[in-house]
Amino acid sequence: MFQKWVEKTIVLGEEKTVEVRKDSFWKRRVRIMARVGLEITSVENFDEVINKPCVFCMPEKLAKFDEKIFGKEMLENEHAFLFPNINPYAAHSAVCAFKKHYIKPGDFNATMIENNLELCMKYLEKVREMDEKAKYFSINWNYMMPAGASILHPHMQVVASEHPTTYMEKVMEDKNAFKEYVREEVKSERFVGSVDNIEIFTPFAPFGFNEIVGVVKGSLNGNISNIASVLEKIISYYASIDRNSFNIAIYSSFDDSIPPHFRCITRQNMVKYYRNDCMFFEKLHEEVILEKKPEEVARELRKFLKT
Ligand SMILES: [Zn+2]
Repeated sequence: MFQKWVEKTIVLGEEKTVEVRKDSFWKRRVRIMARVGLEITSVENFDEVINKPCVFCMPEKLAKFDEKIFGKEMLENEHAFLFPNINPYAAHSAVCAFKKHYIKPGDFNATMIENNLELCMKYLEKVREMDEKAKYFSINWNYMMPAGASILHPHMQVVASEHPTTYMEKVMEDKNAFKEYVREEVKSERFVGSVDNIEIFTPFAPFGFNEIVGVVKGSLNGNISNIASVLEKIISYYASIDRNSFNIAIYSSFDDSIPPHFRCITRQNMVKYYRNDCMFFEKLHEEVILEKKPEEVARELRKFLKT
């Protein structure tokens, strides 16, 4: 399932190496090399953006649900509120914002994340009642602008449809092969541990920087608080290595076709004149360039989870 080789070349009298990895389940390759500057790690002050007026701080300006269908215009609990996405990505598309306008990665706690995920699940229950065709869903998070967020105020996004995404379709194509893929990763040196009912590993051929995958044992609904507690640890790990932008996706379905699991990656930090972390390799060749091996990420995370 996993193959790797090293390509060598001489530049200015010095040997340079590129490790190429091929993952036959995902049918994709990644390249790992010494620093190429795609992963920006410096931390700059961005108070100017934090202090801008924000539409998520003005709930009256946000889109509302039809009260006849949802019973409420907006779903709400102590730390989060959920409302329709004004730019829907699918037949069912909602935004679940945290109540605080700005939260540093190190300041997210499990309760806040759990509150947010609970509202996402409530919304999905309604979707299920309204539209039995909408089988596939995901809960997604772009944290900060380099990760694709258009608004700084932290928020997750729920997307549900009768059609899977490209990623989901790959998982569904051969569910046994996906299970075999997870088994291979769990057997490897990249397995971080089984924490709160979730098997955590760093993948052989990551989709992005510092990638961590969690596979839920059991149902998604029954493990919301476990996922929240693991995500708190992962985000705290990202904070500990000074990353302030990340993406998270939780994938699942109402039938049994997509085993509930999530992927987390860091993106570039919030710096003013940044170089994008996607170039021709990522966008046009479907290959990710990495500067750190997933085995190293696993070692760091393992150490972090123990302390
Ligand atoms: Zn705000």
